[in-house]
Amino acid sequence: MIQVLDKSFEEFITRDEIDRKIQSLGKTLNETYAGKEVVFLAVLNGAFMFASDLMKQVDLSCEISFVKMSSYQGTKTTGKVEELIGLNTDIRNKHVIIIEDIVDTGHTIDKILSLLDGKDAASVSVCTLLYKPDAFTGESKPEFVGFSIPNAFVVGYGLDYDEKGRNLDAIYQIREAN
Ligand code: 5GP
Repeated sequence: MIQVLDKSFEEFITRDEIDRKIQSLGKTLNETYAGKEVVFLAVLNGAFMFASDLMKQVDLSCEISFVKMSSYQGTKTTGKVEELIGLNTDIRNKHVIIIEDIVDTGHTIDKILSLLDGKDAASVSVCTLLYKPDAFTGESKPEFVGFSIPNAFVVGYGLDYDEKGRNLDAIYQIREAN
């Protein structure tokens, strides 16, 4: 058990399980996008660790750009989303893969997809480490999913609780008794 600020969490997905999943995600992406020009868009802040480890498994001809939407604070999804900043790569005729740490309600992804609309990408898909199907109310489900998880708050491996806990090297789930 660990403590982040006022909440306690227990280990939920180990570093080893994350490593193995990322290897298999990388393999899937290498097969799916073989011979294609790919642009990865990693969504900051949460996806920085996942993006870094995923990219090491990718052997495609690709670019990576880091983009940012509204930051998330506290233990509930705000639903409030700002514009996409940092997209300075030309995605015309490229296959875009958005790298997310977690897809919860799906609002962030829907917003990013609508902001990429009309930019003439060859295709746009989403690769997320974590996905909460029970919370999802979005339009498009992520194409590539590491782990589908229950609807409980998690931290670690890039994900924060009030900006803390991003540095944890495994994923921790909030304890019921909090
Ligand atoms: P959405 O609801 O739009 O799919 O997700 C919005 C954002 O909420 C995610 O990118 C992530 O930053 C945050 N989020 C959703 N669920 C969790 C969670 O369990 N833990 C943490 N740390 N962030 C979450």
